[in-house]
Amino acid sequence: MEQEQNQLSQGSVCVQGGYTPANGEPRQIPIIQSTTFKYDTSAEMGKLFDLESSGYFYSRLQNPTCDHVAAKITALEGGTAGMLTSSGQAANFFALFNICNAGDHIVASNSIYGGTFNLIEVTMAKMGITATFVPPDCTDAELDAAFRPNTKAVFGETIANPALTVLDIARFAAAAHRHHVPLVVDNTFATPINCRPIEWGADIVTHSTTKYMDGHGGTVGGAIVDGGHFDWMANADKFPGLTTPDESYHGVTYAERFGKEGGFITKATAQLMRDFGCTQSPINAYMINLGLESLHVRMARHCATGQAVAEFLAAHPKIRYVNYCGLPGDAYHELAKKYLPKGSCGVVSFGVVGGRDAAAAFMGYLKVAAIETHVADARTCCLHPASSTHRQMSEEQLLAAGVQPDLVRLSCGLEDAEDLIRDLSQALDKI
Ligand SMILES: *Cc1c(COP(=O)(O)O)cnc(C)c1O
Repeated sequence: MEQEQNQLSQGSVCVQGGYTPANGEPRQIPIIQSTTFKYDTSAEMGKLFDLESSGYFYSRLQNPTCDHVAAKITALEGGTAGMLTSSGQAANFFALFNICNAGDHIVASNSIYGGTFNLIEVTMAKMGITATFVPPDCTDAELDAAFRPNTKAVFGETIANPALTVLDIARFAAAAHRHHVPLVVDNTFATPINCRPIEWGADIVTHSTTKYMDGHGGTVGGAIVDGGHFDWMANADKFPGLTTPDESYHGVTYAERFGKEGGFITKATAQLMRDFGCTQSPINAYMINLGLESLHVRMARHCATGQAVAEFLAAHPKIRYVNYCGLPGDAYHELAKKYLPKGSCGVVSFGVVGGRDAAAAFMGYLKVAAIETHVADARTCCLHPASSTHRQMSEEQLLAAGVQPDLVRLSCGLEDAEDLIRDLSQALDKI
């Protein structure tokens, strides 16, 4: 059965990956809504606690429903092991904290999600883990200069939220590997349908499944996938958490016992999930899987609509600029051709002639697109950062943060493109 699933192409893995029912078993992934699992003898349960045999004992650590969904996402990304988390924030925190200890350092792209920037810049700094941020377009020399002897990981986003920059994954991976550390890539906006970072050299991939994977604005969640290529033991002195015995787990050395393929996720589960408990619920995992079943169909549609909307906006006299890597003039068009040949995503950002006030007024006239702090949903939504998420900032501060005062972020949903374009057109006519 596993063998048969390995032959499936990406779209079929979306539908059937991660779960192969035996004769007479449920066709859909069963929701195992149980905190705990029953055993006949204490000895059997003891072996599970010692990681000597695999099985379920408590759903904070592992649950069969969540594991089926994690296995599907792992197959989609071409990884060797994966896990679900309660949110994308938890996924990025676990991915980095599974590698770094107090006193360590991270090199990160400065074009990343605001929540992740806060996590690294503010909260992880309180834990003694510092970071150097570099522009995704920096030169190799600038990138190399950001590394320190205590650097343990490099972090970036395939397509950054909200800046829509495209990461040169192979170049960042090469830099990370020159310095003997792994590259962690947040692949939320591209999804494995449009880009598989592991194939370009990334070592660990993270997701906010809240976005396109769920795709319906219903479920907050996250995922981590290990590509299984990074050799922790070859750089043992840098990664003691993976390469020396964990006394809190009966002296297991994760990278030794579970290898390049499984050590990372086993440690994140046995140690971080045990202690932090950022667990996905079985019911929500089931919901995420419903989204995954149509991910390949939906992504193509989000991209086609994003492209049509971007082209309409780029030709409109009341639009000052459009950021969308599918447009030939876009600064990231060449990188997109390499990394995102099937399309990028449905998120388009643009500036309205007339500045901050015109942008806010324009959004008020939209009828199909709703004003929301969300993206990557079946329903089209939009946000004016200068009057919402960034409203406390002055004009100068906005520009320093890379947010133009007239910038509107539009997430194209699954409605018909002509309805979105008609809606944008009538709203632009009113300003
Ligand atoms: C939304 C988002 C996150 C955070 O995910 P949550 O599920 O909201 O915690 C992380 N990275 C990216 C790129 C995102 O878009």
